[in-house]
Amino acid sequence: MRFDDTVALITGGASGIGRGIAQAFAEHGARVCIADLDGPRAAEAADALRRGGAEAFAITTDVADAAAVAAAIDAVEARWGALHHLVNCAGIDRPMPLDDLDEATYDRVIAVDQKSVYLTTRRALPLLECSGGTVVNVSSVMAWYTAPGYVAYTAAKAGVIGMTRALAVELGPRGVRVNAICPGFIDTPIWQRNLDAMTPEAAAAFAERVRALHPIGRRGTPADIADATLFLCSGAARFITGTHLIVDGGVSLRLTAP
Ligand code: NAP
Repeated sequence: MRFDDTVALITGGASGIGRGIAQAFAEHGARVCIADLDGPRAAEAADALRRGGAEAFAITTDVADAAAVAAAIDAVEARWGALHHLVNCAGIDRPMPLDDLDEATYDRVIAVDQKSVYLTTRRALPLLECSGGTVVNVSSVMAWYTAPGYVAYTAAKAGVIGMTRALAVELGPRGVRVNAICPGFIDTPIWQRNLDAMTPEAAAAFAERVRALHPIGRRGTPADIADATLFLCSGAARFITGTHLIVDGGVSLRLTAP
């Protein structure tokens, strides 16, 4: 899969899965814009891509803010005049029991994880239509299989699946394919933050329990998700739109612990 002469915009590309996707696009020849809330880390990630020989830049962006999204897409257009691949990866989880889930937190999770897909895709559409582009939305296995404490996150990620399907139907005739990826347990700062909330002993036991649940025998890496994303953006997926790809080492297939 080569992406020479294409432009990819990765939201949440400063860290974890998004950073892995940005790196994979760069390694496969694309020019990459990293749009992330964490400006310094985004700049550092873009620097690393440039050191590797790619064309890349970063822009501080809150994907829940329409004006910031517009500025990011305008910056891509100003620099490269085109956009071929939009990857909506920025996300937050904020797990907490329903009793503690205040309205502001609920609204923020929905805005960052779900509304952002509407904001970015709508704003990028003229460029994507011009290039016959693709959109990949990073949802989660939690769109399908969930856990206590994930009311807002599950609602947002399930909403992303619905939006992916609706966008695919509407944008297919305009030459734009839209798909979703559902990662399982991927080793990133989000995963680490959840472990950090436990005692070291509990975190080690939990990590091992989760690992053992995977038929493939390990948790995922950002590179696992990046490869699947590049596939969906590539010509090899030219007849695939409106679908979701579960990339989780088989963990969501289990009904019970071993
Ligand atoms: P991560 O390492 O925390 O990276 C997420 C990046 O998005 C961070 O740089 C974060 O910046 C940024 N971000 C947060 N809110 C933003 C906003 N409003 N606008 C722009 N950027 C924002 O997380 P990750 O684990 O790689 O997760 C990436 C995506 O995969 C998320 O959508 C997540 O829900 C999904 N996912 C992850 C897993 C997993 O196991 N890791 C599983 C399923 C799905 P800050 O650090 O400043 O917040």
